[in-house]
Amino acid sequence: MELNGLERRVKAVLFDIDDTLVDLRSAMSTTLQHVSGPHLPHLQDQEWEEFKHLFWADPQGYYDMYLAGELTFVEQRVLRARHVHAVFGAAELDDEGFGRWNDEYQRLLPRHWAAFDDVAELLDALDAARLPYGAVSNNVEDYQRVKLDGCGLQRISVLVGTDTVGVAKPDPGIFHEGARRLGTDPSHTLYVGDNRLVDAEGAAAAGLLSVWLNRSGVETGRFAGPEITSLSELTVLFSGSGAGPEGA
Ligand SMILES: [Mg+2]
Repeated sequence: MELNGLERRVKAVLFDIDDTLVDLRSAMSTTLQHVSGPHLPHLQDQEWEEFKHLFWADPQGYYDMYLAGELTFVEQRVLRARHVHAVFGAAELDDEGFGRWNDEYQRLLPRHWAAFDDVAELLDALDAARLPYGAVSNNVEDYQRVKLDGCGLQRISVLVGTDTVGVAKPDPGIFHEGARRLGTDPSHTLYVGDNRLVDAEGAAAAGLLSVWLNRSGVETGRFAGPEITSLSELTVLFSGSGAGPEGA
């Protein structure tokens, strides 16, 4: 599937949220360093980068265990924090200490939530082309609603979370529910997400049109469909003369 020409087949667009619309990685990084800083006063800048990278990489797969229902959302976060604290030699915190760590993290994280710079223009282009859009996310709906609103993305009114249909991406059911709520057939619904496997390949396997947003360009895995590094590439596509439903 080519990117060019896609605008003629697309009747609606669904987005992943975290690191597609919302720069969660930056928000988490800033929050992590702030909250863990007092416990790791010896770390230099480069080590902080490694610390944040390790938290993000989640080598133990705690986030996947949360998705599988084996951990709560807070448990997966605290277990990831425990792991990186141990690796970087922080003085050990007991359960109560990590409880306070988590409270502080939760309090500060939303202050750093922000949409990427390329989001508003694309949504404007979709509005102009009268293409409906929404979000399908592997987090719970209420939490993601607060996040979208906090980022000024209230206009994304259709939101499907893991608790909406009881399954997570890449299960086809969650993609299909997004398309159903937009009122389009999955085969005419474009999914845009940053995770190659869960988003790009998952949506394609579920019968949607699919574009992989590889923002960093660092991951070199292959996706059979179109790959973009910025949402601006879609803005150009949907702002072109071919965009929009018939007669629009
Ligand atoms: Mg994502």
